[in-house]
Amino acid sequence: MAARGRFIPKNPGKYMGHRLKCLLCDREFDNKNGLSRHIIWTHKITTEQYYVDHIKGLVNTCIRCGDSTKFLGIIEGYAISCGHSCSQFMNRERIKADKDKYAEYNKNISKAVGEIWKTREVTGENINIRKKIGESIKRNNLLLSKDEMNMKYGWLNKLSGDEYEKAVKNDL
Ligand SMILES: [Zn+2]
Ligand SMILES: [Zn+2]
Repeated sequence: MAARGRFIPKNPGKYMGHRLKCLLCDREFDNKNGLSRHIIWTHKITTEQYYVDHIKGLVNTCIRCGDSTKFLGIIEGYAISCGHSCSQFMNRERIKADKDKYAEYNKNISKAVGEIWKTREVTGENINIRKKIGESIKRNNLLLSKDEMNMKYGWLNKLSGDEYEKAVKNDL
C-alpha cells in the first residue's frame, strides 16, 4: 500500500536521525528545505526532476482514476490521488477501512475474552473467580450498616421463606 497513514515529519532529516544527503554531490543538509534549495540552485534542476531521476521515478498516478497527481516535495513525493473528488474518495475509503479494522479488532477482543472464560471453565478456574467475586460481595456487605442492608436486601422480605433463602444464597 502506498502512502496511507505515512508520517511526514516537519524536519525529516533530523527526525530520521541522519542528515539528508544530496544524491548528486553527497553534500548533507539538516532539512528538506536546505536540500531542496541546494538542488535548485546548485544542480539547476527542479526538486520534482530530482525526485523522478534519483529517488522513486515518476510515480504520479492517481490510485483511483489513473490521472497524474501533484508533486508534493522531495520527501513526500507525489500525492497518491489526484484532485478533490479522488482525494475525498480515498479519504472516505480510508475511514471505512479504519472502521472495518476497528470492528474486526473488537470482534477479536470479545472472542478472546470468551475463550479465556471457556478455558477457565475447563480448568475450574472460573469457579474460583466466581467464588472470589462472591466473597468480595460478602465482605462489602459486612461493611454495610443495617439501613444500607435493608436498602439492598429489603425487597427480599417480600419473598417467601424458600425464595428468600435462595435469593440471599445467590447474592452472598
Ligand atoms: Zn548536490
Ligand atoms: Zn484521481
